[in-house]
Amino acid sequence: MPAPTQAQGTAPRPGAAGGGLTDRHGRTATDLRVSLTDRCNLRCTYCMPEAGLPWLPKPTLLTDDEVNRLVAVAVRDLGVREVRFTGGEPLLRPGLVDIVEAAAALDPRPEISLTTNAIGLERLAEPLRAAGLDRVNVSLDTLDPATFKDLAKRDRLAATLRGIEGAAAAGLAPVKINTVLMRGVNDREAPDLLRFALAHDYQLRFIEQMPLDAAGVWRRDEMVTAAEILAALKAEFDLTPDPEHRGSAPAETWLVDGGPAKVGVIGSVTRPFCGDCDRTRLTADGQVRNCLFARGETDLRGLARSGAGDAEIAGRWREAMRGKLPGHGIDDPSFLQPARPMSAIGG
Ligand code: SAM
Ligand code: SF4
Repeated sequence: MPAPTQAQGTAPRPGAAGGGLTDRHGRTATDLRVSLTDRCNLRCTYCMPEAGLPWLPKPTLLTDDEVNRLVAVAVRDLGVREVRFTGGEPLLRPGLVDIVEAAAALDPRPEISLTTNAIGLERLAEPLRAAGLDRVNVSLDTLDPATFKDLAKRDRLAATLRGIEGAAAAGLAPVKINTVLMRGVNDREAPDLLRFALAHDYQLRFIEQMPLDAAGVWRRDEMVTAAEILAALKAEFDLTPDPEHRGSAPAETWLVDGGPAKVGVIGSVTRPFCGDCDRTRLTADGQVRNCLFARGETDLRGLARSGAGDAEIAGRWREAMRGKLPGHGIDDPSFLQPARPMSAIGG
């Protein structure tokens, strides 16, 4: 159930009360990523070490009511229009269906989506859809069981594929697929993955690997670039630029063989979209991050637990976003990888 905040109907319109989440560079965040857990049942090498990580201690995790309250503040008071639940693996969060239901009950109602590895989604897709989930993005890096095991350190390709089918069957369409290519691991599969997506009417997007691995071994010169991905696809498909403007969406899209099917490439490193970024992030332990690569965080959990009201929480969140840097700075010689890996930030 939604936590009691401002009564529905009397709430200010988005961002109207004290302003939205605007930074000093003219960007306004309207897209909230909420990490629901730092745990995962896979160990994708670009994200988490095989042995796992020291998990966040339970008392530091936001409770379901605390998540609901902070999402409500973001939507009612700060102008957030899209809420994406992620992790770690969000399907591992026992209260996920109720959390989605609480978000869907907000006024104004946000768009609600989930980023997941889809393990278990065949069981959860229907209840999630009934609770108000609008869309899913599923991570799928390979169609080969051995490569899956090599890349994710678990033999779960069949479970992921079942979950994707379950999402489509539950009407969570169009299912979006996210793929990270790694050199010498799965980079040869780009055309096969696109054929798979076209055959099932899934929307495929390739994402450049970012320096967010727990081991800190990412190397730019080893990264498979957006240009390389496009070249590999163009060798087998006719790609034409999508005439629809990309706006703040990070994926540059191309029509495949004249359309209407499309493929996206998110060149987070080589074609950064920081100037159009509209995201704000909340970690599973209640810290606001104004960027994936932020070095600092703002503690909303402590504030909420100290008895702060919604207006004070909203004010602290605005302050956190004011200080957002203009870009991720991966190319700066002074760039430092954030202390938390992707699994603990929420991708
Ligand atoms: N477990 C869920 C999943 O895999 O979809 C949600 C969390 S995961 C951290 C979210 C997304 O981040 C996935 O699409 C994953 O491929 C992506 N990701 C993780 N580490 C990454 C990295 N170093 N570079 C680029 N994308 C990454
Ligand atoms: Fe888990 Fe997602 Fe990270 Fe893979 S990318 S280890 S599925 S959190």
